Amino acid sequence: MRIGVPKEIKNHEYRVGLTPESVAELVANGHELFVETQAGAGIGAADDIYETAGAKILATASEVFETAEMIVKVKEPQAVERAMLKPGQILYTYLHLAPDPEQTKDLVDSGAVCIAYETVTDDQGGLPLLKPMSQVAGRMSVQAGATALEKAHGGRGVLMGGVPGVAPAKVVVVGGGVVGFNAAQMAVGMHADVTILDRNPATLEKLSNHFEASAKVVYSTKAALADLVAEADLVVGAVLVPGAAAPKLVTRDMLKTMQPGAVLVDVAIDQGGCFETSKATTHADPTYVVDEVVHYCVANMPGAVARTSTYALNNATLHHAVKIANKGWKQALKDDAHLKNGLNVCEGKITCEPVANDLGYEY
Ligand code: NAD
Repeated sequence: MRIGVPKEIKNHEYRVGLTPESVAELVANGHELFVETQAGAGIGAADDIYETAGAKILATASEVFETAEMIVKVKEPQAVERAMLKPGQILYTYLHLAPDPEQTKDLVDSGAVCIAYETVTDDQGGLPLLKPMSQVAGRMSVQAGATALEKAHGGRGVLMGGVPGVAPAKVVVVGGGVVGFNAAQMAVGMHADVTILDRNPATLEKLSNHFEASAKVVYSTKAALADLVAEADLVVGAVLVPGAAAPKLVTRDMLKTMQPGAVLVDVAIDQGGCFETSKATTHADPTYVVDEVVHYCVANMPGAVARTSTYALNNATLHHAVKIANKGWKQALKDDAHLKNGLNVCEGKITCEPVANDLGYEY
């Protein structure tokens, strides 16, 4: 199969659909790879590295879209990319169609076969192609929080791990799923005083067994959260109620009880945020202050660590890309019900029920 990798064009997107190693793997499986010039620049992979891996470098995105039978990307195609899609062409990338009627219409009209990373499932009922980005964002949330706690960044001047004789920072992680678990791991590793809140009994048990005495695990109620937030140096928001906007768990009133210079990192901002005072920010200007509390609410945290994120994403996406390329999309989806769940738009039809329901298409 001819497989194409265009350079990502969404604002501040530095990741790339395939790493040079993934390109080499697909080439070893007998496929032809076409990579747009500079596609890997954001992860430090120059054109000659892709050439050594077996790819042919093309000068423009339109050549890539013209040549390839399958396009592999990271972000949803932008309008100019959607205009280049062809009937029957496979698009394998994040799509997030439900809140995006314009993109959905263009993909339906294109006649392409669009497989979305975010709806591919696994045997555990998880979303394995979303998980790596939650791992990245969870780990990064503590790094971002630690920086924001520094005086020069508006924080209260507290070192995460303290030093012998001086207490460490108090870190509260709200939501103990993938993001929360990874945030807690980093905070524990920095020797902070860590408390994790969740509501799911199975998650509470898993967290408790994993962290033992190194972190406190607390059932999430409004009262418990209010007490912990008042004392916290850093609060990480990591809740998710699938399919719904994030609940506003930390209210403006709670903010008033917090210590000046304390930090809130709202990872759940891509679902609207779980702090009442959250509004989305960018890597260029990541923080703002409300009631003397520093807020960090970057909606695409993994973009800042494009190299790690690209490799983590490829670890989850490559094996499906190989299957699609080796078998063709019809057979690959027939053989793998989890991959089939990724099919959102197919040759003019919506094939993902929640997307069809949300946007009023026939399913
Ligand atoms: P997850 O489903 O693994 O975990 C969410 C957890 O929240 C679950 O354990 C759930 O029990 C818990 N929860 C739900 N309601 C709660 C409540 N009232 N109190 C306490 N806990 C509660 O989800 P995840 O993968 O960890 O993702 C968390 C959020 O981070 C999502 O909104 C996701 O989209 C977002 N995210 C953001 C970025 C970014 O760049 N900002 C990157 C990756 C993920």
